[in-house]
This record gives sequence, C-alpha cells and structure tokens, in this order.
Amino acid sequence: MSVVSRGTVRIATERCKGCELCIPACKPNVLRMSTRRNGQGLAYPELLPGCTGCNACLLVCPDFCFEVYHFDEPVIHDVVLRESTR
Ligand code: SF4
Ligand code: SF4
Repeated sequence: MSVVSRGTVRIATERCKGCELCIPACKPNVLRMSTRRNGQGLAYPELLPGCTGCNACLLVCPDFCFEVYHFDEPVIHDVVLRESTR
C-alpha cells in the first residue's frame, strides 16, 4: 500500500516532556510515542509516513518541540502492512 506525505516535522526530542498532547492532535494519526527515551528519561513522539504538514502538532505542543516543513511535491511511500501475530 502507498502513503502520501505532503510535509514532515523536526522534533526537538530533548525538550519533550512526554505529555502526549500531540498524539491525538495529529488527525492523520502519524505521530506515535517512541519506545526510546530522551535525556530526561521521557518518551517522545516519532513520525510515521503520511504527514500533511497541517501544523496541528506545532500549535498544540506546550514546549514548542515541532518545526513543520511542507514539500513542494507530495512524496509517496510504499508501506508494508504487517499482520498481528496475536
Ligand atoms: S504537521 Fe500535522 S500531520 Fe504532520 S505530524 Fe504534525 S499534526 Fe501530524
Ligand atoms: S506535545 Fe510536545 S511536549 Fe508533549 S509529547 Fe508532544 S512533543 Fe512532547
């Protein structure tokens, strides 16, 4: 299956306090909390393919962790869906 990205984000993970407000704010549902931790020992978001560059994450984050970039042309990703083993 293919997923289109119209933008991307840069995330200042060291500033993130792990509040997770950005996760439901992202309507395309392309942010998820990482299993990795920053220097404060806190989980931070990571980006999956499909960002629209909508700025919602930038607007909701209380710690100004996001920079949003818009692509001139959409980028198409081929995504492999894995079935759950359970
Ligand atoms: S710019 Fe929009 S689509 Fe992209 S990660 Fe942020 S909230 Fe999600
Ligand atoms: S809203 Fe900002 S501080 Fe909260 S988890 Fe997302 S990036 Fe981190």
